[in-house]
Amino acid sequence: MKRIYNFSAGPAILPVPVLEQLSRDVLEINGSGMSILEVSHRGKDYDAVHQEAMANVLQTLGLSPDEYAVVFGVGGASMQFALLPMNFLAEGQTADYVDTGEWSSKAIKDAKRYGTVHVPGSSADTAYNRLPKPLEFSAPGVARYAHITTNNTIEGTQFLALPDTNGAPLAADMSSDIFAVAHDFSKFDFIYAGAQKNAGIAGVTMVIIRKSFLATAKPNLPPMLSYAVQAEKESLYNTPPVFAVHALNLVLKHVQNAGGVAAMDAANREKSALIYDALDAAPDVYQPTVTEKNDRSLMNITFRLRTEELEKQFLKEAQAREMDGLKGHRNVGGVRASIYNAFPREGCVALAELIGDFARRNG
Ligand SMILES: *Cc1c(COP(=O)(O)O)cnc(C)c1O
Repeated sequence: MKRIYNFSAGPAILPVPVLEQLSRDVLEINGSGMSILEVSHRGKDYDAVHQEAMANVLQTLGLSPDEYAVVFGVGGASMQFALLPMNFLAEGQTADYVDTGEWSSKAIKDAKRYGTVHVPGSSADTAYNRLPKPLEFSAPGVARYAHITTNNTIEGTQFLALPDTNGAPLAADMSSDIFAVAHDFSKFDFIYAGAQKNAGIAGVTMVIIRKSFLATAKPNLPPMLSYAVQAEKESLYNTPPVFAVHALNLVLKHVQNAGGVAAMDAANREKSALIYDALDAAPDVYQPTVTEKNDRSLMNITFRLRTEELEKQFLKEAQAREMDGLKGHRNVGGVRASIYNAFPREGCVALAELIGDFARRNG
């Protein structure tokens, strides 16, 4: 099997042992004579996967099933932009939303359909090239919840420290850094993350909800849109995305065997530093788009070159060295290296080498 360095922002690289297991299970799961793609979502083979996946999500985050519920959603993280306020925000109520990029702007737009949005801080005025500071959250007791995007996949910023929300329940879109950075996850009341960046394949979105917060959700929603119903039915109200949950479970086992979130955190800091250091060493050629070093993402490293012509040349040389997926998001351009948990250190070394080598020839 040929493997190149895949810097795609999502869907993204998966651990090879997970791909190997998935390919075996596509042919036959557990000696059942059936493919994972063929078994009933209410049969024993899938049931074991489903229960294990829910348990592994919480275990990997260091959370207790007594305190937190896990829901496997569909429709991507984008669906959660609407479901979170639909379930928790009513007219006349306020939710705080920090505006740190394209994904948080979309979450804000949907929240405004259900209630009042207070923005504690925005970096829109500087093209989201930093995290806004200071953050002015609503006074204690005012906001229903406070929402952040922990990692801004497109703009390349990341909350490595969690903000103080003045006591509002903390809700987070962690689509591109769940299981990648160590936090005290008990500080979160609500986490959602599409699986296809750090945790598996497209098709399932993890939603982790503190049970005491869930108890405050609005009643009488259609069951498919209600976190309370989905949690009570353990995401088996209807057919769940069976294969995606299976992939998620295998990724979680892989992460745990590799030392868990603490080990991912350490590796991601080291991997990203290799690339940032190479960029910072040649400031006449490269401009990292995030200049405030403390705000830089460990997951998505975004930078520009002096001219678009040089950017094209850089991407071409990267391709020639078997590095793919480095083109920046279509809305912002430039170069973006996405180096999630499964991305190997050797690939970061290879990119750092190209960065240095290219700078020597084009400085
Ligand atoms: C990719 C991404 C999304 C959108 O995810 P979908 O699963 O495609 O809806 C939302 N938020 C963040 C932070 C992302 O990186």
